[in-house]
Amino acid sequence: MCGIVGYTGKQAAVPILLNGLERLEYRGYDSAGVAVVSPEKGLQIEKCKGRLQVLRDKLAALPPLTGSTGLGHTRWATHGEPNDVNSHPHVSQNGQVAVVHNGIIENYVEIKEFLLHKGVAFRSDTDSEVVAQLLEYTFNNCADIMDAVYQVLDRLEGAYALGILCVDAPDTLIAARKDAPLLLGYGDGESFIASDATAIIAHTRDVAYMEDGEVAVLTADGIRVYDEYRRPIEKEHHLIEWDVSAAEKGGYAHFMFKEIMEQPEALRRTISPRLRDGEIVFDELSLTDEDLRRFDRLYIVACGSSYHVGMVGKYDLERFLRMPVEVCLASEFRYSEPLVDDRSLVIVISQSGETLDSLAALRKAKSLGGYILSIVNVVGSSIARESDSVLYTWAGPEIAVATTKAYSTQLALLTMLGLYMARRLGRADSAEYAAVTAELALLPEKLQTVLASADAYQYLASLYFNRDCVFFIGRNLDYALGLEGSLKLKEISYIHSESYAAGELKHGTISLIEQGTLVVALATYGPLFDKAVSNIVEVKARGAEVVALTTDSLRDRMEKIATHTLSVPDTHPALQPNLGVVPLQLFAYYIALQRGCDIDKPKNLAKSVTVE
Ligand code: GLU
Repeated sequence: MCGIVGYTGKQAAVPILLNGLERLEYRGYDSAGVAVVSPEKGLQIEKCKGRLQVLRDKLAALPPLTGSTGLGHTRWATHGEPNDVNSHPHVSQNGQVAVVHNGIIENYVEIKEFLLHKGVAFRSDTDSEVVAQLLEYTFNNCADIMDAVYQVLDRLEGAYALGILCVDAPDTLIAARKDAPLLLGYGDGESFIASDATAIIAHTRDVAYMEDGEVAVLTADGIRVYDEYRRPIEKEHHLIEWDVSAAEKGGYAHFMFKEIMEQPEALRRTISPRLRDGEIVFDELSLTDEDLRRFDRLYIVACGSSYHVGMVGKYDLERFLRMPVEVCLASEFRYSEPLVDDRSLVIVISQSGETLDSLAALRKAKSLGGYILSIVNVVGSSIARESDSVLYTWAGPEIAVATTKAYSTQLALLTMLGLYMARRLGRADSAEYAAVTAELALLPEKLQTVLASADAYQYLASLYFNRDCVFFIGRNLDYALGLEGSLKLKEISYIHSESYAAGELKHGTISLIEQGTLVVALATYGPLFDKAVSNIVEVKARGAEVVALTTDSLRDRMEKIATHTLSVPDTHPALQPNLGVVPLQLFAYYIALQRGCDIDKPKNLAKSVTVE
């Protein structure tokens, strides 16, 4: 969601900013802009609605914006429609400061009224413009720009990552954050800010993550960081482990397809280091035996696909641990009154580690005394930093908005965690433990064989791409799997779909099944195969065309019933969704492809949802 990149150094800023913004495009946005500042020309700004290419074309037709200090922004509108004026950067009335902002200023109406009363003229409908205007207004009565920045931050409520330029300090970039991601990049004679490491990885891998309340002052010579009381602080540096090629398409038509294909490798990286001689080992977990014995309830809190991981996890973990597991949508949990206390283990799942609803839910659970264990892909992200323990999914950067490899690695990790805890608590059935760990080791290989039949999914997609409604049905783990399959289809192909617990269909929704309705029936969960068959027969009797997904060993039986049958290799039932999800990802991908959709950047969606 929305991106920020900032540069100060010796090179021309604009090309670096545009390249950085290009790498942030995957996050989803509706407008883009750049600003540079130089001693000769002051602030120069270009911004517009639409894709980055529109901005590039606009810039190419103009005399170059010269300067070695600047900011770039991709906006995902929250306040004010996407148009040229509402795009960022925003400039103050007298052109003294320019600001880019990610997040929402919650008290912007109050600040705007105050400034209007003082005669300040606003140009945009955004909440963000108040930051630029208030800064200039405050700066007029301050000794230096930093005084003004601190005074303004004191007045802001809400969430922000801010990049600030000031004509009085044309070789300086100022950054501040609260509840929105921002990192600092240390180069040789140059310094960077970015909302996401992908924006600057081509220039430096030496980064530090800003914390809430911190303010950074960047020049070509280095970066100084101050805490909320303006005391200088030393930041811990992190080295980004992956390189720029990991964030490029590498010959694939879409990031999503590349990331689907990367799943065996991503799973290997996530599973192998934690599987030693048939034992699950989590060196990074700081859970003591006493902690484990204390827990009497487990919460899984997440949004979107990560929530669906939690839905699978509920079935597996309750069975392994014989403990109640509650799966909660973070956006609901944060405003509810959860029964969390010091006997609760709260598992927060987020690819980016910056999902604002999940972060807020984490803080709520923590304030109630819960132990927070997060499953996160992005190292050093806010959720990772604020958790008591973190398990990283080593999926590598995920660029496509629709998650694939992050989902798969989260799922594997959650199952491993459940089994690991059961073992430590003495509740694991040893035969089952041995069977699951043996299958975990084989999972990447088996997944590879599913990918090898990608053509079958393409063929099916060609039969069904023009439908406007699809039902997914399944029971138990297949129900949880269907939720993700349905979301994938909706997200990228814009076909309306519903996912139902198969036994629930006849309690109402079956009235929507008519001649030719497409039903994707999931029957990979062996113990309930016969029940799944009955439900397939029910919908077929009402005219549905059924694409069924089962396992190789059950394929023959299914072929006699379904219109089309797909199968994945058999594995332990607890891990079956890890294989079952891949055909659903490919089915959604090929359907979206046939429909000519913008697969990597579906309309209205953003990658890392850093607003409520
Ligand atoms: N709330 C701001 C706006 O609507 C910032 C949106 C964003 O984070 O891109 O302009």
